[in-house]
Amino acid sequence: MPAYVEREFRHYVDAGQAVEGLITLARWFVDSGGSVAGRMAHHHAPLPEWARGDALPGAPGPTLRTGAHPLGFVCGLPFGQVEAARLARAVLACGATALRITPWRRVLFEGVGDKLPSPQDPDAPDIDAVAAAGWRVEACAGAPFCPQAGVDTRALAFRLMRLAQRGMLQAPSSAGLRVVHVSGCAKACAYPRPATINVMRRAGVFDLGWQTASPLHVGLSADAVVSHLECC
Ligand code: SF4
Repeated sequence: MPAYVEREFRHYVDAGQAVEGLITLARWFVDSGGSVAGRMAHHHAPLPEWARGDALPGAPGPTLRTGAHPLGFVCGLPFGQVEAARLARAVLACGATALRITPWRRVLFEGVGDKLPSPQDPDAPDIDAVAAAGWRVEACAGAPFCPQAGVDTRALAFRLMRLAQRGMLQAPSSAGLRVVHVSGCAKACAYPRPATINVMRRAGVFDLGWQTASPLHVGLSADAVVSHLECC
C-alpha cells in the first residue's frame, strides 16, 4: 500500500495542546530519520503508536457544488487559494454573515444578500467546469511562494485548466478522472503520486510526460508545454 495512504491517521488534541503536539511530531520526524528523507511523503518510518490511535472520521458528505446553497452561496477556489484582501472585499460586498471553509476547495458564504460573492478574478478557471470535463489540475505553490521554484506553476496550471474546460486538453486515453500535475521541482509537493500528465520544472525548463513513464518532451518553455497539450 502506498505510504501516503498509510498516513491517513488522525490524532485529536485540544486546541491548547496543538503546539506541543506539533513539536512532538516534529521530534519524532527527526528522531526517526526524517531529515534524511527530506519530507513526510518520502519518509517511510511507521508513525508512532500514539499517532495511530484514533479512527478515521466517517466518510465526508457529498462535495458542495458551486452556486446557490440553502445557507448562502458556494464559490470554488482553484487550488483552494484566494488572496486574503480579495476575499475580504467579497465578504463585505455581498454582506455575508459567515464564511464556511470546506474540504473541497470551495467556500460557503453564509447569509448573502442580493449581491453574489465573487472572491476570484473573473478570468480564473472554473473548477467545476474542469471537473465536468473529466480533469483535475494540481499545482504546487511555485514562485514566488516557494524558494525551490523558479516559475509560477499556478499560472501555467491555469492555462491548462482553461484548455481542459474547453475540452482542448489532450492526453492518453484513460477512464475516469484524469489529473494534470504541474510541479516546480522534483519534490512534487502538490501530488506525490502518478498523474495522467506530469509537467515538472527542471533546470529552468519543463519536462512533460504521461503517468509514470519517463518524460516524452524535455527542455520546454511554458508556451511549448501548452502547445504540446493543446488539441483542436
Ligand atoms: S514541488 Fe518544489 S517548487 Fe513546488 S512547492 Fe514543492 S518544493 Fe516548492
